[in-house]
Amino acid sequence: MIAGPCSVESDEQTIATARAVKAAGATALRGGAFKPRTSPYSFQGLKEEGLKILAAAREETGLAVVTEVVAESDVALVARYADVLQIGARNMQNYRLLEAVGAEGKPVLLKRGPSATLDELLLAAEYVLNAGNPQVMLCERGIRTFESHTRYTLPLATVPWLHERTHLPVVVDPSHGTGHTNLVPRMAAAAIAADADGLIVEVHPDPETALSDGYQSLTFAQFAELVQLCQRVAEAVGRKIRANETAMTL
Ligand code: PEP
Ligand code: MN
Repeated sequence: MIAGPCSVESDEQTIATARAVKAAGATALRGGAFKPRTSPYSFQGLKEEGLKILAAAREETGLAVVTEVVAESDVALVARYADVLQIGARNMQNYRLLEAVGAEGKPVLLKRGPSATLDELLLAAEYVLNAGNPQVMLCERGIRTFESHTRYTLPLATVPWLHERTHLPVVVDPSHGTGHTNLVPRMAAAAIAADADGLIVEVHPDPETALSDGYQSLTFAQFAELVQLCQRVAEAVGRKIRANETAMTL
């Protein structure tokens, strides 16, 4: 269970979120320090300052840090602070970046491009694996379709399809996959029912003031409820969610 803000905005925002998601049962903290934004005028992230904030949050909570690397030239820097290097959807087919994170060796969370087929996702993963790094997680985060009610369309058949063809763990991102806070908990639970190995969820102390993706971010209370819902669905389908050791009893 990976959770945290879309972007690292400040010390206080990140540490408060880390504490809350840990209490709810998360095992890893997400948060972007280098943000790949559609508009160059949008908040681009705190860069190295953001990485330092994430490392401080790990120090206090023990949560692993998952954060995006957007450029080949930043791989060494991001790897100094991160536990998992996230390759964003926009970079799924940035082959030199894939080779660079492959050579670096830290676990990689590879997000599906919004217009990429699953065969293309698997071939992108091969770039990391071939560079000598076997630690790759695949992430379904929604694809672009004609549907406009949701930000993207979240195809959960991806999960069992990938499980039939690869040993790599499959993570689902119901935040980007739907783009609406109120749709996130049910799609997270559906992903668990579909046998997802992990979830990555956006959480913010005050989603309305978030510098990115507030409309799809959960409050602390909503995230705690999501974990409990997922727990119930997991039990119903004979699975168990591995929560962190100090998580409150669910
Ligand atoms: C993110 O995780 O905040 C993000 C930018 O995701 P994606 O690359 O899937 O759009
Ligand atoms: Mn986001």
